[in-house]
Amino acid sequence: MKSLRTIALKEAQNRISPDVKAPSTKISEFFGSNVFDKKKMRDFLSKEVFEKLMSTIGQGELINQDDANQIASAMKTWAMSKGATHYTHWFQPLTGSTAEKHDAFFEPSGEGAIEKFAGSALVQQEPDASSFPNGGIRNTFEARGYTAWDPSSPAFIMESKAGKTLCIPTVFISYTGESLDYKAPLLKALAAMDKAAVEVCQFFDKSINKVTASLGIEQEYFLVDLALFNARPDLVMTGRTLFGHMSAKGQQLEDHYFGSIPERVFAYMVDFENEALKLGIPLKTRHNEVAPSQFECAPIYEEINLAIDHNQLLMDLMEKVARRHNFKVLLHEKPYAGINGSGKHNNWSLITDTGKNLLAPGKTPKNNLMFLAFFVNTIKAVHEHADLLRASITSVSNDHRLGANEAPPAIISIFLGQQLDEILDEIEHSRISKKIKEDNGLWLGIPKIPQIILDNTDRNRTSPFAFTGNKFELRAVGSTANSSAPMTVLNAIVADQLTKFKVDVDKLIKKGDKKDVALLTVIKRYIKESKDIRFEGNGYSQEWADEAAKRGLSNIKTTPKALDAYVSDKTTELFTKTNIFSKRELHARHEILLESFFRKLQIEARVMGDVTNSQILPAAIAYQNTLIENARGLKELGLSKEAIATPLAIINTLSEHIGIVKTNIDAMLEERKKTNAIEDSRDKAIGYDEKVKVYFDTIRYHVDKLEQIVDDSVWPLPKFRELLFLK
Ligand code: ADP
Ligand code: MG
Repeated sequence: MKSLRTIALKEAQNRISPDVKAPSTKISEFFGSNVFDKKKMRDFLSKEVFEKLMSTIGQGELINQDDANQIASAMKTWAMSKGATHYTHWFQPLTGSTAEKHDAFFEPSGEGAIEKFAGSALVQQEPDASSFPNGGIRNTFEARGYTAWDPSSPAFIMESKAGKTLCIPTVFISYTGESLDYKAPLLKALAAMDKAAVEVCQFFDKSINKVTASLGIEQEYFLVDLALFNARPDLVMTGRTLFGHMSAKGQQLEDHYFGSIPERVFAYMVDFENEALKLGIPLKTRHNEVAPSQFECAPIYEEINLAIDHNQLLMDLMEKVARRHNFKVLLHEKPYAGINGSGKHNNWSLITDTGKNLLAPGKTPKNNLMFLAFFVNTIKAVHEHADLLRASITSVSNDHRLGANEAPPAIISIFLGQQLDEILDEIEHSRISKKIKEDNGLWLGIPKIPQIILDNTDRNRTSPFAFTGNKFELRAVGSTANSSAPMTVLNAIVADQLTKFKVDVDKLIKKGDKKDVALLTVIKRYIKESKDIRFEGNGYSQEWADEAAKRGLSNIKTTPKALDAYVSDKTTELFTKTNIFSKRELHARHEILLESFFRKLQIEARVMGDVTNSQILPAAIAYQNTLIENARGLKELGLSKEAIATPLAIINTLSEHIGIVKTNIDAMLEERKKTNAIEDSRDKAIGYDEKVKVYFDTIRYHVDKLEQIVDDSVWPLPKFRELLFLK
């Protein structure tokens, strides 16, 4: 019988890409065609309702039943004109993926039927959602969860060959009003940010009434042929390879990065990009990444809530479209040991309703002061809450990536670039002139902050949080993550910090300081207080780990412990004060994250056992038997001891590896049983991390040794060279 690997290799070699036609029109002509965007709202709604909807989106005003009915009806008319037959509330439960439950517009009526979509169905739904993670917030007897329309993210139509569905972005909350998803807390954090930032803006510019946070998400991913993927149970079940000897060639020649994109991959990219563009996702960039078969795409930045909806939608699309191309897209943070993992760089900044980027250093000193205020408050916030930020990016899969092969370490630090780093140092050591003259000399002995040239900054890839000219880039986020978690935290901590800043400045003004002097004094103090979080050197080095320890920065390498920060007193205070999470919600989330952690490790451990017992060991033993036959034959022929020595030596080596693998698999099983019996989720997660996962490396090491010895034709799993280099 041919092995699955052999069949898969043949299939993969003979692939023909489906026909992907370049769009026949300009992108601008079909961009957003499947989105009920502002223009369509204007066309389909009465002027009055359109304006009300706009102020709901802008200022969060409530929508009444009549208006909701009109909006629903307009959405239905538009969606049906595009061929949609169903609608769904689209939401982001804490499983990490998106959820939808479709209902038909169609309803029997009298003797016939009509298509209906009432305002009430638009605004709120009660999905039968008792099986989504809730961390104990809902008992099954009160398992009601509600999805509620988020008008700030436009409805869109999802197309598939079998039909079209109108999707309405929603939050997902419990009967008692607690958040059960990623979006609800994010929206609250963004509201807190808006309020706090506008108040600080008022020191500088009274015309600013709104501040939105913006986000541009760079998405890294791997592609693998679908047949080869299916021949790897570890990839199928866990998203990463649990075994596999590194191929002779990996990324050492650096010949993949920005290289020409293979035809088959290019067709796939164009295909999902076109789908994404129709959904209004402003994809702009595509390129090869560092590791073989690794790629990246990035949209133009948008308001955060929208950017995250789009990223979630994009990941979904990428997976769907990959099927058409017989690819599997691997979004896992570390699908292959020994080469780079994938991240999701979160480029973040703050933008006012007057169009100003608050993190762009301006030309005049006064503008610089405004920039400095937001810049320094961000640094201070991250310094204060580094552990929480770390917790927000942690996951079982990101643990493999952080601190390994070209990924930022688990120590949170901030890179500013030499120029700004020096400016902050100078400010820290300068005196503040109390006699302020317009346009110069606020800081004694400091030159004006020059317009930062974008190219001057960045390019320290080793930092988890880097200033890149006019935005901060959080690079520690994992490729599978929903960016809402870190973005909720980042916006919450900066909002809270800005509020404190305002209080501190107002205090000095009350005492009689001029406004600018007060601002400068507080900024200077913050620079000093948050200095330890700044690091310009090589974040991958051991020296940095040592230095960070000296500075008292934490370096929490694993998830169960990193997650403690979610339920610390400091975090609870921050989130309850800003109304983003209640204590109960935080504990629920903590519980969900811990559970997800040990469940995923449990799956990995099981797959490791299954594959080893049912595929690896039989292959190794079969090959061993062949060698035994060979040795016996040689002996029968009367050959010398020396001649038989080679098969015997290989038989011996095989025996050793087989023995170690088997012993460790059995020992791991025993540990799993013990750990499964632990009640407390945190203890269980730590148990899985420290008692079960520790076997993975040893087992893998010996399996990979076997891979190198056993006859290639009987080895069951596609090898790295096959997964990574087939075009
Ligand atoms: P790279 O970091 O790979 O050099 P860029 O810096 O050009 O790439 O852009 C990365 C992402 O940052 C893109 O999604 C881009 O739209 C986004 N970006 C650019 N300016 C801002 C900003 N002010 N706020 C948020 N994101 C931004
Ligand atoms: Mg970048």
